[in-house]
Amino acid sequence: MRRLLFAANWKMQVDPAEARGYAAQFLGATAPVEGRTLWFFPPAVSIESAAGALRGRPDIRVGAQDVHWEPKGAFTGATSIPLARGAGAAGALVGHSERRHVFGESDEATGRKVRALLNAGLTAFLCVGEKLEEREAGKTEEVVLRQLRAGLAGVEAGALSGLVVAYEPVWAIGTGRNATAEDAARVHQTLRSELGRLGATTRVPILYGGSVNIGNALGLLAQPEIDGVLVGGASLDPDGWAEIVGIGG
Ligand code: PEP
Repeated sequence: MRRLLFAANWKMQVDPAEARGYAAQFLGATAPVEGRTLWFFPPAVSIESAAGALRGRPDIRVGAQDVHWEPKGAFTGATSIPLARGAGAAGALVGHSERRHVFGESDEATGRKVRALLNAGLTAFLCVGEKLEEREAGKTEEVVLRQLRAGLAGVEAGALSGLVVAYEPVWAIGTGRNATAEDAARVHQTLRSELGRLGATTRVPILYGGSVNIGNALGLLAQPEIDGVLVGGASLDPDGWAEIVGIGG
């Protein structure tokens, strides 16, 4: 059976008490589905309460939305990998479009974070995706391949087993516009070929993200190239998210 990942990005929402309430409701509404792994990415302050409240479900992991590559130091406002791990994180998003385009993070910084996570034995969710003007200029492949290569610079082929890639077209995030399943699958195919060229010997899961909801999730997941979804807005309601993670299961 094909493994599927369902990842919830809560962005800058859900405080520690709300995370506990969310978890109780979500756990009450779901049971593990064979072959499915669920990830939650709360804001840093809520990692510990989310991880504590979701503990006991072996299909569920909690991760950070971002990490710094240095293990400690004078980086006010940043979260190191040891701090995130100590709070219960088993992985982290890296290079989310909001980190790249709102906070101006470079391909190079993204690569440092991926390397640090993989070296620490945590799962790195490397996000890539083109902006609308890049898509309209026919540069989707060029952009996502540049981001993938830079994100994986210096990563040994053997470490790619700790990687998840998320294709998230910037124009689709939080906009209500999603890529068609066929368009997304084509980009996934491009990314998968490059991962093969980089030496991946196991299947690196490639998720689609960008305005995924209960109405379009099944069509996206029906594509053999799409190994799961990374979801912002539609993951904030525990009952709605429970429906999505159980879809077709
Ligand atoms: C995201 O935050 O990664 C995302 C895809 O958001 P949304 O589902 O709201 O488009």
